[in-house]
Amino acid sequence: KSSMAEDVCELLNQVCPLLETQGIMSNVQIIRDYKVAPLPVMCDANQLKQVFINLLKNAIEAMPAGGQIKIVADLEGDEIQITIIDQGPGIPIELMNRIGQPFYTTKPNGTGLGLVVSYNIVQNHGGSITIANMQNEGAAFTIKLPCVRKEV
Ligand code: ADP
Ligand code: MG
Repeated sequence: KSSMAEDVCELLNQVCPLLETQGIMSNVQIIRDYKVAPLPVMCDANQLKQVFINLLKNAIEAMPAGGQIKIVADLEGDEIQITIIDQGPGIPIELMNRIGQPFYTTKPNGTGLGLVVSYNIVQNHGGSITIANMQNEGAAFTIKLPCVRKEV
């Protein structure tokens, strides 16, 4: 099995520069706020990085005129919580149930698969993804994952 203890903060540090290249083009800034580090999780590093890339890409695409993406990583008991908050339009209540269904997309060239894949990966790691809208801000996607109790 390819699963071993990985530091979530380190994985985020690896993907952010990749997306910042895309972010800069649309004036998007990514702010990382790690309340606790390291945050060790048993995972397939490439799969978890794919989840972060999918959610960050969606956040960038939600702000064509630019803005800020905040990544907050924290520990709640035995649970790692990573929240990705953008300043886009958010998600209309009536679409909350359709978001994340296979092939549901509002983008002309979207696949509607990014979130499906992300949900499946996180679920396979014993975690979950929840969506919320921030007051006066955009969408907030929270990834919850079980924390490993030993040091990385
Ligand atoms: P795609 O990006 O190819 O459309 P996804 O599964 O990644 O597919 O996302 C599905 C849909 O969810 C998007 O088309 C969009 O309508 C909505 N969505 C996802 N992330 C956000 C976000 N951060 N802000 C607003 N809407 C979002
Ligand atoms: Mg997407």
